[in-house]
Amino acid sequence: MNDQQLWNLGTVRLKALLADLSVAKGLALTQLLTRYREAKEVFAAVVARVDADSICRECEGQCCLNGKYRINVFDALARAAAETPTSADFFQKPVCPYGTDTGCTMEPGLRPADCVLFICEAIEQKMSPQARLVLAEQEQDIRECIRKASSLTGEPLGTPLLLWAARAEINPN
Ligand code: SF4
Repeated sequence: MNDQQLWNLGTVRLKALLADLSVAKGLALTQLLTRYREAKEVFAAVVARVDADSICRECEGQCCLNGKYRINVFDALARAAAETPTSADFFQKPVCPYGTDTGCTMEPGLRPADCVLFICEAIEQKMSPQARLVLAEQEQDIRECIRKASSLTGEPLGTPLLLWAARAEINPN
């Protein structure tokens, strides 16, 4: 199966996972998704304040190359719940399938957690101690949302979507 087929399979599995949830679990998951999105937005806003955009422009987004495994199952669920389609082009290597020459196609709150949480050395050096504290809190919150949602659904939601789909192909039941 190629990446596009795995992506399609993962998307179908996501819909089945959502459809199988009880109303109570669905509500709890919605709350976690909202918290997850908000924590990512706060984290990204703190990073943006040190003028990360110009640092990223100068390095031309090297950390975004080969990013096909960055989106995890919970990230994909967040995008599905927000009814925000993901455009993915698995042929544009080494540019990330979810990006373009001009940057990421995803807004920070609905961007993969791995991408939001990654801070390169150039940005790290510009962070004040206070900003680092806020980032640590938000990171903890983001990881806790993934943990809680995984336990709620019985699925390892922090797994990259493509790998989760590939495992389903190997173990259909
Ligand atoms: S999803 Fe966006 S931020 Fe993450 S690696 Fe791809 S282009 Fe970069």
